Amino acid sequence: MLTDRDKVRYTRQILLPEIGGKGQERLKGSTVFIAGAGGLGSPVSVYLACAGVGHLVICDDGRVELSNLNRQFLHADSRQDMLKTESAAEILAALNPDVSLTLISRRLTEENAGELVGGADIIVDCLDNFETRYVVNRYAVKNSLPFIHAGIYGMSGQLSFFQPPETACLACIFPEAPPPEIFPVLGAPVGVIGSLEALEAVKYLTGCGTVLKNRLLIFNGEEARFDEVTISRDPACPVCGGLTRGTA
Ligand SMILES: [Zn+2]
Repeated sequence: MLTDRDKVRYTRQILLPEIGGKGQERLKGSTVFIAGAGGLGSPVSVYLACAGVGHLVICDDGRVELSNLNRQFLHADSRQDMLKTESAAEILAALNPDVSLTLISRRLTEENAGELVGGADIIVDCLDNFETRYVVNRYAVKNSLPFIHAGIYGMSGQLSFFQPPETACLACIFPEAPPPEIFPVLGAPVGVIGSLEALEAVKYLTGCGTVLKNRLLIFNGEEARFDEVTISRDPACPVCGGLTRGTA
């Protein structure tokens, strides 16, 4: 149930007919697992905390570095070397003390995914490497959890919403990881993509709008252009290929 304070805090989004009081209650009752507290994790966790998602689980095993600060506004110059989860919690708790936070300063692996992701309603990809993305993807497919994927590079980025068997999964469209590298990245386009991830999560949790199922949205920041590619499941996908509609 929404408190009087909730009704005031979230007035402007409760005014959206698609959300309303019911949608706000759904947000309050939801748990979102945010995989990564860096560039994408900044807008995702800030907007979800502001929106009143009841429980955010922030998972990142890194510490704040000087070179993170051109894009990772969860963190601050004065918090270098602090665990990213703890640095993030300072901002998020100040923004909205009504949101409960679980901080996990561990790397997500095949072995601990069940323990760490637990009862989350949705997983949001704010990662910077494909190895962990594949771990999350396998866990999400196995447990029928929706997984919002995003990736960024330079001034560009992409995102999609995965929930096989209704949609493709990450491994259907990216069967192999690109070689790891220290890639270029500017802050503002990360904000564009992370904000869109937060929006997809809010839409999924409240049941409003249309989420990015079987569509890969691609943002070209250099040309200020959005493009879209229709994607579909690979029946031979080693992760989701065995699933059949209606039985997952
Ligand atoms: Zn697949």
